[in-house]
Amino acid sequence: MLPIADRMARAGTETAFEVLVHAKALEAQGRHIIHLQIGEPDFTTPKNIIEAAKRALDAGHTHYCPPNGIPILREAIAEEISRTRGIKVNPSQVAVTPGGKPIILFSILACVNPGDEVIYPNPGFPIYESVINIFGAKPIPLPLREENEFRVDLDELKSLVNKRTRLLILNSAHNPTGGILRKQDIEEIAEIVAPYDFMILSDEIYSRTTYDAPHVSLASVPGMQERTIILDGFSKTFAMTGWRLGYGVMSEKLLAHVERLIINTNSCTSTFSQYAGVEALRGPQDEVKKMGDEFRRRRDVIVKGLNKIPGFHCLTPEGAFYAFPNITGTGMKSKPLANLLLDKAGVACLAGTDFGSYGEGYIRFSYANSVENIRIALDRIAETVTKLSPECVK
Ligand code: PLP
Repeated sequence: MLPIADRMARAGTETAFEVLVHAKALEAQGRHIIHLQIGEPDFTTPKNIIEAAKRALDAGHTHYCPPNGIPILREAIAEEISRTRGIKVNPSQVAVTPGGKPIILFSILACVNPGDEVIYPNPGFPIYESVINIFGAKPIPLPLREENEFRVDLDELKSLVNKRTRLLILNSAHNPTGGILRKQDIEEIAEIVAPYDFMILSDEIYSRTTYDAPHVSLASVPGMQERTIILDGFSKTFAMTGWRLGYGVMSEKLLAHVERLIINTNSCTSTFSQYAGVEALRGPQDEVKKMGDEFRRRRDVIVKGLNKIPGFHCLTPEGAFYAFPNITGTGMKSKPLANLLLDKAGVACLAGTDFGSYGEGYIRFSYANSVENIRIALDRIAETVTKLSPECVK
């Protein structure tokens, strides 16, 4: 038997990758699968960014660089966050990481002791709960409910914070629900946390993918910047998932600890990817605008289509690129329905419960796929669901 540490029994996963493997196996058998499971833009990285990476490679930027990132990228990020969040950020407050994801791990490692309470959105990005559990902290789910447009229920948050809380995790725009926090929400959240001194991890990886209301950050509320760790990055906004480029913005004091964690793990982030990141932030932004417009078009198609399927009901997402319909009207639970849709309809999607227990009754569809494929998927889902026994579909 392998001598595996106990903590590994507590490690969760991202089911999107498991569903991808299953879907690929079906494809190998000749089945046609439409992939609505994975959260990555299907667009190619804008050409100017690719060219900047090529230039960096030719210029010999193929070596280690400072753990927190190359100075020019830290400057560009500090400028970007200062401008978009309306706060003053110095380059010395920026840690560049391989994707935004390590910031989740580093925040918990740096701020939380075993047994401490961490409040996190549920349903939510599954890595929050997983990492909290791996480190033996106590996960305190903050339920996000459809009747509240999947925003934080402020009374519920108030009832959960206490002197054992060491970290609060927020995510807007939100994966998997597409909900967003509004200015009033973050102001009230700031009031709720004011009597305590715990840190807040504000996952803003979808900050540039909001449709109508502008993105707002808790760090913008006066007095909150020092306590907030902003997680953002390049994966979603610039279609750069495979480049592994993200960052955290935090107080210099906390950054000194995070820097040691970087040195203990990845040493630094791919140097030539970082030069591409500078071009992404400082170069033309028309591709980002085009991708945003296309996501909006797809969102409207998928939401309209899902609402026509018997037993489905879907709110219109206000950010990110996920539709999260309520499927309780089908009479089926989330996981069996997601499995059925993959096996029978050839549509890969995720069960709401892949995002936590409060996701029961929902399915997540990523609309990072063409309108044409989304329409085929909708037809296939409707056909499969209609074949469920009539007493199932209410
Ligand atoms: N946070 C959320 C809410 C996400 O959905 C994801 C990716 O799916 C990440 C963080 C991580 O993104 P990255 O690819 O930059 O590591």
